[in-house]
Amino acid sequence: MKLLEERIIKDGTVLPGGVLKVDCFLNHQLDIPLFCELAKEFYRLFADCNINKILTIEASGLGLASITAERFGCPVVFARKSRTKNLSPDVYSAKVFSFTHGEPYDALVSKKYLSPADNLLIIDDFLAMGEALTGLWSIAGQAGARVAGAGIAIEKAFQPGGDNLRKQGLRIESLARIASMDENGVTFC
Ligand code: 5GP
Repeated sequence: MKLLEERIIKDGTVLPGGVLKVDCFLNHQLDIPLFCELAKEFYRLFADCNINKILTIEASGLGLASITAERFGCPVVFARKSRTKNLSPDVYSAKVFSFTHGEPYDALVSKKYLSPADNLLIIDDFLAMGEALTGLWSIAGQAGARVAGAGIAIEKAFQPGGDNLRKQGLRIESLARIASMDENGVTFC
């Protein structure tokens, strides 16, 4: 998506270790008019899929997932990364290794909010090694829910997550796919 690619070139910074910093518009300060355009595109791509719920993971997927859910007219469920007191003990869970934190955590969703009646669209800000998406797909499977696909803002296509999950049969639509990046800039697929 041209709009997102142009924004990455304008405001993104490539950090050592293969991390793209886009926190001025995507995952710390949130550019809501941009999110509305991304959500519109996710809606165009998945409009005929009868989505009844969006699934994402805290914290950085939540903004984009919420705006996208407004388009689909459905709720958002997000996986928590820690057991808070108000989280039901009855949860679906998946072990996820965090690319940015360099350590594993448990993604947790209350059994109350996912069921075999659900037809899910998974939304996240980034796809890198595919750990977060694998975890969410697993949680959906544990609930017996169907996953129509995943909508990703930025896929780092030079990392293996996207290809691996597509090979396993998951439909993934990424709005910007980065072929390579270094201190000189970003190249899109
Ligand atoms: P994965 O699980 O696919 O390795 O990584 C996905 C998660 O890691 C995303 O939810 C995102 O929060 C974070 N992430 C991965 N790569 C990057 C990156 O280059 N920049 C930022 N800002 N976050 C990233």
